Amino acid sequence: MALILDGSISYCHQSRSLIVQSREGGFVTQNCLVCGKPRSLSFSELPGLLCGKCNNPLEPFIDSFKNYAYKCLTCGTSFELASVVPSWEEHFDYDGFAIDSDYDENMNNKWKSKK
Ligand SMILES: [Zn+2]
Ligand SMILES: [Zn+2]
Repeated sequence: MALILDGSISYCHQSRSLIVQSREGGFVTQNCLVCGKPRSLSFSELPGLLCGKCNNPLEPFIDSFKNYAYKCLTCGTSFELASVVPSWEEHFDYDGFAIDSDYDENMNNKWKSKK
């Protein structure tokens, strides 16, 4: 199950950004929710997370593959950030536009109103 995590506010649209696995995989980017433009996510922008096992704050770090990761100092759980966020194509279409989650519903309503 993917975690929906916000990055910082996008420069291009002053909008929320969604942290996703980048197209290349393994890396993470934060994509503007309006235009889908990816930006790099700096270490200081990593969101605070709580451990799923013991509910203590997780500590962000850079692992031996130079990827962002989190570890729990209490129970020792650790994981790469890219492994818990959604992949890029689940939320953005090929041209980088955010896929509206209400899309299906809107299409259904249009379909119904035509009848
Ligand atoms: Zn934008
Ligand atoms: Zn823990």
